[in-house]
Amino acid sequence: MKLDTRAMRHLTAEDWRVLTAVEMGSKNHEIVPTPLIERIARLKGGASGVHKSISALAKVGLIARMKEAKYDGYRLTYGGLDYLALHTHAARKHVYSVGSRIGVGKESDIMIVADDKGTQKVLKIHRLGRISFRTVKANRDYLKNRASGSWMYLSRLAAIKEYAFMQALREEGFPVPEPIAQSRHTIVMSLIDAMPMRQISSVPDPAGLYAELIALILRLAKHGLIHGDFNEFNILIRKDKDAQDPNKITLTPIIIDFPQMVSMDHPNAEMYFDRDVECIKRFFSRRFHFVSTTPGPFFKDAKKTVGRDGARRLDAAAEASGFTKKMAKDLEAAIREQQANSEADAGDSEDDLEDESDEEEESGSEDGDPSDDEGQHQVIGDHVPVLVGSEEGLEKLTINDGT
Ligand code: ADP
Ligand code: MG
Repeated sequence: MKLDTRAMRHLTAEDWRVLTAVEMGSKNHEIVPTPLIERIARLKGGASGVHKSISALAKVGLIARMKEAKYDGYRLTYGGLDYLALHTHAARKHVYSVGSRIGVGKESDIMIVADDKGTQKVLKIHRLGRISFRTVKANRDYLKNRASGSWMYLSRLAAIKEYAFMQALREEGFPVPEPIAQSRHTIVMSLIDAMPMRQISSVPDPAGLYAELIALILRLAKHGLIHGDFNEFNILIRKDKDAQDPNKITLTPIIIDFPQMVSMDHPNAEMYFDRDVECIKRFFSRRFHFVSTTPGPFFKDAKKTVGRDGARRLDAAAEASGFTKKMAKDLEAAIREQQANSEADAGDSEDDLEDESDEEEESGSEDGDPSDDEGQHQVIGDHVPVLVGSEEGLEKLTINDGT
């Protein structure tokens, strides 16, 4: 599902209004009846204006006509939701142009974007409904045929949750990207100039880095949290020059990817905690041939530290920001389903882990297919009424392909 912003330039104010109307109608209708779109959009040009916009939007795939229903109507596509989110980011001046895609996951697209000053940022587009709900019966029953199982709702939840946690973590001084904005199923965050640990073949001091990562797991626990997917793809390693000795490089881990974070009070907290620890141990043993002589850390010890020394409970903080228990439950079921699916999908990632000789090619595939990227920033910002800007500034942009 590639984000193609080219059609954005050609949408009229009326088209945007109709697209927004379809989104609003989607809150209560899986398929939004055409008369409802007309009513919500209330264009000056009347019904014919709406129909013109509907055709224009359908032509570029932002809405899709649904004929199998009892009535004629439209639904928003992923593309349509992408456009609405980008439009909001552009209107708020967080995004002016969209560059290349640096990551494609089962659950998201990661794009480089820039604001009108040329500052590069990362746009993460959640794609949670990409999978079908088929593996875990409990999840299937929970999610199927319900509004709460829809991709739009779930992807939005993932973005809301990720943003709330990134904010809470950042405020607490954890090494995470700076959260900049959230709209619908997307978030904008600072671009970290670092590589996933996955792409690092050796480090000068594996014991030191290992200790630092374990310390991060324990620090999260103290604040009531478990990352839940603490692996070599979600830990970026930044190389910093030592302040004293410029020949010396220090490695700083930065954590990303938070939609699956769980509370230390979660019924399965111990399993998630152990899995995060195990992930790091396994990676260090395979990649750096480092095995710690210290056993653990163990959940029962970490549990005792929750809230110690006045540590703020970030699990509670994120909930207080509006991510309710009901939302958490819906999202969790979807993520559990997704993880079950990816484990079921041939041992792709396991093969990856075993085969370490092919680093170049693997990192290439991690970054997605470069050939389907434009390799150029596409301006979206100057088509949002509140913005003034020119394309000149864009030439200064360099494309960061994430490697
Ligand atoms: P997913 O949920 O699909 O795993 P992630 O948030 O883990 O998405 O991002 C996928 C990849 O994109 C990461 O492994 C990393 O290479 C890159 N990435 C994500 N966020 C950033 C960022 N803020 N700065 C730099 N690279 C990033
Ligand atoms: Mg990830």
